[in-house]
Amino acid sequence: MKIGVLALQGAVREHIKAIEAVGAKAIAVKHKEELNSLDGLVLPGGESTTMRKLIDRYDMMPALRLFATSGKPMFGTCAGLILLANKLNDYDDPHIGVMNVEVKRNSFGRQVDSFEALLYLKGIGADFPAVFIRAPHIVNVGEGVDVLGEYDGRIVLARDGQFLGCSFHPELTEDTRIMEYFVHMVKESKRSILA
Ligand code: GLN
Repeated sequence: MKIGVLALQGAVREHIKAIEAVGAKAIAVKHKEELNSLDGLVLPGGESTTMRKLIDRYDMMPALRLFATSGKPMFGTCAGLILLANKLNDYDDPHIGVMNVEVKRNSFGRQVDSFEALLYLKGIGADFPAVFIRAPHIVNVGEGVDVLGEYDGRIVLARDGQFLGCSFHPELTEDTRIMEYFVHMVKESKRSILA
């Protein structure tokens, strides 16, 4: 099983480590052609506007949207969640725009307000150490979207079929339970694509 991490900007190395820690093969994706051989894709945290500029500069948007249409799982963390959302609170147009959620950016304060909280996450478990860094949150979810985690009354982890999105940075802790959950999604999807 091969899982890519979009490697244009942001917390790439940490995700590669987390993927390998749960026994899958990780690939840093810098070119659109590299998407073809993958079973799943992680969009890391960082700065969504910078990532969007780089996606456009390297002409990766059509290939990313095609990847989504193929039904393969995608996991967006923080800025990655912003890239996946089909509605953004402060922009007219979404970026990749495939996950049925509305996202608001920087909704927990500025950089100095970064913090960690222990969360209960549905299907994953209790006491997950969630690191929030200028984090977005999910304001609204569309039909069929499963809310998996909340903090302070705000949705911070959700699943829309093949798409998993979270506000915080699971890759910055040693706790690999969310990555295990994603790898399981990839396994299931691979099985159904082969079936
Ligand atoms: N605030 C950033 C953005 O809007 C996201 C922060 C992060 O990924 N840690 O893209």
